[in-house]
Amino acid sequence: MTYLPAKTRYDAMTYNRCGRSGLRLPAISLGLWHNFGGVDTLENARAMIFRAFDLGITHFDLANNYGPPPGSAEETFGKILAQDLSRYRDELIISTKAGYWMWPGPYGEWGSRKYLIASLDQSLKRMGLEYVDIFYSHRPDPNTPLEETMMALDFAVRSGRALYAGISSYTPEQTQAAARILRALGTPCLIHQPAYSMFNRWVEDGLLNVLDDEGIGCIVFSPLAQGVLTDKYLQGIPEDSRAGKSHGFLRPEQVTDEKLDKVRTLREIAQARGQTMAQLALTWVLRRKTVTSALVGASKVRQIEDSVGALAHLDFSQEELDAIEAILRA
Ligand code: NDP
Repeated sequence: MTYLPAKTRYDAMTYNRCGRSGLRLPAISLGLWHNFGGVDTLENARAMIFRAFDLGITHFDLANNYGPPPGSAEETFGKILAQDLSRYRDELIISTKAGYWMWPGPYGEWGSRKYLIASLDQSLKRMGLEYVDIFYSHRPDPNTPLEETMMALDFAVRSGRALYAGISSYTPEQTQAAARILRALGTPCLIHQPAYSMFNRWVEDGLLNVLDDEGIGCIVFSPLAQGVLTDKYLQGIPEDSRAGKSHGFLRPEQVTDEKLDKVRTLREIAQARGQTMAQLALTWVLRRKTVTSALVGASKVRQIEDSVGALAHLDFSQEELDAIEAILRA
C-alpha cells in the first residue's frame, strides 16, 4: 500500500527556531536508536515513521551505529524513504552522526577527519541519500585536535554531504571552543545534542547558557530517561520494554526503586494537569526556551501519539514547577 501523508500534518505541531539559524525543528523529534534495527520488524518501523510524519514530526535522528546490528537503523530508514517518503525529502530533516565504534581498526571511531568523512559516506549509502540535513560529531575526542574534527564537519557541509553541522555531548567549554572554530571556518554550529531529562540535568550547569550565548539550538536526547519517566515500569519490567530486552541499552538495574518512587509522585502532578507521565516529562524539558526539540524514541505508534500530546499543555504554574523541583531534589 502506498503511503499518503495526512493533509493535516502541519496543523498542530509546534516548530521552534534552532538557535539563531533559519531552521525550525518540531518541538518533538523522533530518534531511531532503538526499535528500527535489523532485529526489529520493518512494518512497525514504517508505521511509526508514517504516524510521526502525519503528526508533523519532520525531524528523524539517526547515527551510523544505530541498530542492532550497527548500521541497520539507517538501512531500515533508507528502505522506508525509498519506498514511501522520497517524494517528501524536502519536508524532512534527517540527521546522522559519527563518533562511536563502527568498524575495526584505528579509523572506525572517535573524531578524526578520516573516520568522520568515511562514516558519513557510508551513512549516505545506507540511507540512499545525496545529503543529510545535519551531521554531528557524536562525542568529543580527547585525542584528536578539536580543529581537525570541526574542519571535518565544515568539509562535510562544503562538499554537499550535509547542510548543517552539529555536536553531541560536548561540555560547555568544548562547545564554546567548537563554536568559535566553526564560526571562523564559515560553517556555524547549528545544534547541540545533549542528554536532558528530569533524572539527568547536567545541561543546566552551564551548557544551556553557552548555547544561548552562541545562538546554537538544542535537541535533547532521552528526555524520558529511556522510558523510566513513563508509567511502564511501575509494576515491574515488562518483557517488551527496553529494560526487558537483552539488546536494550537500559539495564534493569538502572530502573531503581528510588526513581520509581519519584515517578509515582510526579505522576500525580501529571494527572492533575491532565497529562500522562511521559507528557509531563517532555513538557518539563521543553519549559527551557533554549531547548529547541525533545528527541524521543518509541517502540509503538501510540507512544508517539502520547508524546506529541504533550504539546497541548506546555505552560507550567510556579507551584507546579516548585513541586516538581522538590520531588526531583528529594
Ligand atoms: P526516550 O527517553 O524518549 O526513551 C524512549 C523509550 O521510552 C521508547 O523506546 C519506549 O521504550 C519508551 N517510551 C517512549 N514514549 C513512551 C510513552 N509515551 N509511554 C511509555 N513509554 C514510552 O529517548 P531515547 O533514549 O530513545 O533517545 C531518543 C533518541 O535520542 C534516540 O533515538 C537517538 O536518536 C537520540 N540519542 C542520542 C544520543 C547521543 O549520544 N547523541 C544517545 C542516546 C539517544 P520501550 O521500548 O520500553 O517501549
